[in-house]
Amino acid sequence: TVRVRFAPSPTGPLHIGGLRTALFNYLYAKKHNGDFILRIEDTDQNRYVEGAEAYIIEALNWCNIPYDEGPGKEANVGPYKQSERKALYAKYTQQLLNEGKAYYAFDTPDELTKYRSDYEAEGKTFIYNWHNRLTLNNSLALTEAEVKEKLATNTPYVIRFKSPENELLAMHDEIRGNIQVQTKTLDDKVLFKSDGMPTYHLANIVDDHLMGITHVIRGEEWLPSLALHLLLYRAFNWEAPKFAHLPLILKPTGKGKLSKRDGDKMGFPVFPLLWEDPKTKEIAAGYREDGYLPQAVINMLAFLGWNEGEGSEKEIYSLEELVQAFSLDHVSKSGAKFDPEKTKWFQQHYLQKEDNQTLAKQYLSILEEKNISTTLSYVTQVVNSIKERATFVSDFWELSSFYFEAPTTFNNKAAKKAWKEDTAEIMTKLAEVLSTIEDYKTENIQEAVKPWISEQKIGFGKVMQPLRLALVGDMKGPDLFDILSSIGKTESLKRIAFAIE
Ligand code: GLU
Repeated sequence: TVRVRFAPSPTGPLHIGGLRTALFNYLYAKKHNGDFILRIEDTDQNRYVEGAEAYIIEALNWCNIPYDEGPGKEANVGPYKQSERKALYAKYTQQLLNEGKAYYAFDTPDELTKYRSDYEAEGKTFIYNWHNRLTLNNSLALTEAEVKEKLATNTPYVIRFKSPENELLAMHDEIRGNIQVQTKTLDDKVLFKSDGMPTYHLANIVDDHLMGITHVIRGEEWLPSLALHLLLYRAFNWEAPKFAHLPLILKPTGKGKLSKRDGDKMGFPVFPLLWEDPKTKEIAAGYREDGYLPQAVINMLAFLGWNEGEGSEKEIYSLEELVQAFSLDHVSKSGAKFDPEKTKWFQQHYLQKEDNQTLAKQYLSILEEKNISTTLSYVTQVVNSIKERATFVSDFWELSSFYFEAPTTFNNKAAKKAWKEDTAEIMTKLAEVLSTIEDYKTENIQEAVKPWISEQKIGFGKVMQPLRLALVGDMKGPDLFDILSSIGKTESLKRIAFAIE
């Protein structure tokens, strides 16, 4: 069975790029009836940020892409946090040491800096590998006794991978196809440090293997590590999973990678949930708190690098439809432009699909804050009339305040246009017509008012425009008969009278 994993490092809030990686992993797993695993890569203690892990889990849940296995959902390959798997990494590193596939290196930071600058002085780049490893301060250059002595005296060390000398390594990426790398250009990367912690590379390979991962789907920034990872699988005699590197997410201008800071500049979230930095207390906006529906965010993310294929014009996909349609064959190699406005467009669409009563409940709490007392059924009716013009629940008040409050001021420009010399007289007569309607329902009001206007031979606009002004205070809003019936007869007459004054 297909097993994929999302393996974030808890170094801060999950951003759009990370969430897109999680989504594509989720879609791939579900499409193939496989498992979606969450693994927390927290081996770098210095970069650990309080609250980041909880944030990641909450964000996945909010997006409705929960993991099948992971922290709190233990199955037999756990634990799912690398900090709880330390003993394993030591064991596998030892195996590589024993087999001569890795070695101790005792170079101090100062020595490393000197190697580098010496090389640069000669116009060359220093690469720590077979070009020079026999001349450096490591166990390949020292005698066995010297190595023992250094280890016995607790000399700080790292354990490096012994990369092949001169080999053209053939690799395959599910999105990019075949790639080749000359191993003589590779560094002997550090696998393990003397503080007892593995590096990302070692831990990542050991865990992907032990967790039975079949497909590694991750961001393009990890493509340069692919050669090392494949070499590690080979060194362990393990079958490597398949790899797919997702394209970069670019700024809306298409120039450069979208960064975490771009959100502020664009006035647009690049995080799923609001994040308060535990140290600086700085706040970064999140889609959830900004009033977006998760369906809109998911739909937007899906198109960051994927589409159903040539000629497909479909843009609206539910999560279920995405699962059906998703395929790595249709993930592009080139960077995907982030389009904030498009997310709003998706949001507008999905808001329309929300149940009126659900929205009304949310609106009700906004109304309560404004000390407006009303009922859920009335608010549901209001939501039904105004929703098509809204993108967010927070737009509702602007679009519907007149359902709850009489206008106290009138838009000047609109008033000049709509309110003529004879308007007061017409409105007075209209009020009389309205007052005779017994069952004050939309159709009844319409049936009474329309023929009356025809009888008067004054034209629709001469009545409806000032009436709108009287009820709404402006030339906006939904169907007037609807507004009249909603606010009720007494309130209708009151507003007309107030406008006449
Ligand atoms: N911990 C790595 C990250 O934060 C995981 C990379 C991978 O998926 O291999 O992106």
